[in-house]
This record gives sequence, structure tokens and C-alpha cells, in this order.
Amino acid sequence: MDQHIVLGIDVGASGIKGAPVDIRTGTMIMDRIRLETPKPSTPQAMAATFAELASMFKWKGLIGCGFPAIVKNNVAYSAANIHEQWMGVNIADLFSEATGCPVAAINDADAAGIAVMNFGIGKGVNGVVLIITIGTGLGSALFLDGKLLPDTEFGHLFFKGMIAEHYCSDSARKKLGLSWEEWGRRFNEYLLHLERTLAPDLIILGGGGSKQFNEYAPFLTLETTVKPAFLQNHAGTIGAAYHAWQYHHGNDASNNY
Ligand code: BGC
Repeated sequence: MDQHIVLGIDVGASGIKGAPVDIRTGTMIMDRIRLETPKPSTPQAMAATFAELASMFKWKGLIGCGFPAIVKNNVAYSAANIHEQWMGVNIADLFSEATGCPVAAINDADAAGIAVMNFGIGKGVNGVVLIITIGTGLGSALFLDGKLLPDTEFGHLFFKGMIAEHYCSDSARKKLGLSWEEWGRRFNEYLLHLERTLAPDLIILGGGGSKQFNEYAPFLTLETTVKPAFLQNHAGTIGAAYHAWQYHHGNDASNNY
């Protein structure tokens, strides 16, 4: 197998999605497969689903994993929308044991951000770029001149008397039965708060909720330009693969991150 082809797996609170990615072009070379995240989402149960996905591609090689938690040196340091047993677990070791393949893990929103900044609409953009992923939770990735400040958790800002992602994530929209206008106005308030506190030059939206950008774009009143990621919900998969390649081979795949 060409060493530039890495299996990217985006582990989410709702779905586990993966595809082989050519990290030179940031493209998925086969159709992506999505499996349901097991409930409860314990480390053992998720490792079994992760390994099932890898075996569906008959995978023998490097795997990159995006994971919905603070991830430092492959270890999970938070567990907002996943089972609390994940706290302190070495994600790469666990998934590597389950698949028999080397694995490198990174926060899921950071993975999406890396893809957007290297292969998507963030490519070549200098200044402060903020990426917000809209899904079960709200993920964030912050870049200065293309360089990532890892593990920001802007979805966990305390906002409107609660954790921000409880106010305006995609799962909050569904749970509360909000119309696009109602949700869009909430999300706009949240983005205005981020605009005031971070003064970004560009905001890029990713995750499943970026696909419906046109539904809520009319309710966004920021001065900052807000764009949906062209890579949309695939960015997490592509960025996870790209990160794993860099983690294992050094930093020369790109001049950006
Ligand atoms: C987690 C983040 C994650 C985001 C998106 C949040 O609840 O704390 O680490 O990036 O969800 O999955």
C-alpha cells in the first residue's frame, strides 16, 4: 500500500466515519463508510466498532483518528458526549490494539480544521481563522497564519447560563425542535460572542450542521466573513488521516501546519 494513503476515521458521538485518504491531495479515494456509535459509548464498545470499520476496508496500515475530546499525546482528557470511562484513556493504544494497525489521535475539530486549512477554503489564508464544527457538540479549531492552537474548546464556553453547545449545537436544535430561524438566531448570538472575544479574520463552519448553511445564513449578522467548509463533514476524516501521516513521518507533507 502506498504510504501516502492513510485510513482516516472520524469518531463522533453519533457516528464513526472512515475512508482511505490520499494525504497528498486531501481526497478520499474510496466512498466513506459510516457506522453508528455504540451506546453506551464505552472505550471497549467503541474500539470494537472502530476495528469493524477498519476491517471493512481490509485495512493494514496507518490510521488517523479524530476524536470528540481534548486529546494530548493521544490521551483523552475530557468526555462531554462520550462515556466518562474515556477520561485518561490512550486512544491510539486502544484502537491500535483493536485493529493491529498504528493509530494517531487528535481532537475531531482540530482534524477538520487541519483539512480545511490545508486542502479547503482555509488554504493560504493568514491571520486568525476560527473553525466551528456543528454536530452533537460544538467543536472548535483556531489557527494563526495556518498554524493550529490545539485543543481549544469554544463549544464549552459558558454562555446564556449553560454550556454553549447545549444552547446551539445541532443536537440542541433537534432536541428542542428549533426551526432554522430559531436555531440560526441562537447560533448567531454565539458567533457574535466569539467574534467579540477572538476578533477572527475568518470563521469557517464544518461538521454535519455546515451542510444546511443556506438555511441559517440569513440570520447571521457578524462583520466577520462566515463560510461553510467546502469539505463539509468530510473534513474530519481527511484531517485525521493527514495528522496521522505527519505524526508518523514528520512535518514535510505541507508547508502550512
Ligand atoms: C467536545 C470537543 C469536540 C466537540 C465536537 C465537544 O463536546 O468537548 O472536544 O471537539 O464536542 O465533537
